[in-house]
Amino acid sequence: SEDQGSDTCLFCKIIDGQVPSSKVFEDEAVYAFNDIEPKAKVHVLVVPKHHYRNVDEVAKADPELLAHMVDVSQKIADEAYLGQFRLVFNTGEQAGQTVFHAHAHVLTGEDLSASHT
Ligand code: 5GP
Ligand code: ZN
Repeated sequence: SEDQGSDTCLFCKIIDGQVPSSKVFEDEAVYAFNDIEPKAKVHVLVVPKHHYRNVDEVAKADPELLAHMVDVSQKIADEAYLGQFRLVFNTGEQAGQTVFHAHAHVLTGEDLSASHT
């Protein structure tokens, strides 16, 4: 739920290795892993290691971290598909956010130009 703390947060557990994941990239600030239910040929979640509830919290608390998440997303797409990608931040339950630890959906690996969602 919205008020889920970092102690019970699924993505904090993934970052800690308590819940297994398929790692794509990691550095001191972010962890990136394959989405368990991919919506494109390549669907990676880029998450800050610090627990923020959504992208707006990241932007306000640490704008350089948000820029870094975009840079990591670009590098994933550089390797996966021509450097081209869709970046999605679901923010709030009504927008489809289900995990309240900020994450970027990086959708790439194929031509997505026909699906504008
Ligand atoms: P949201 O709907 O909050 O924007 O995105 C959450 C994403 O996390 C969904 O795309 C969902 O498939 C993914 N997800 C949920 N649980 C797990 C999990 O245990 N492992 C992985 N790798 N992805 C997950
Ligand atoms: Zn968390």
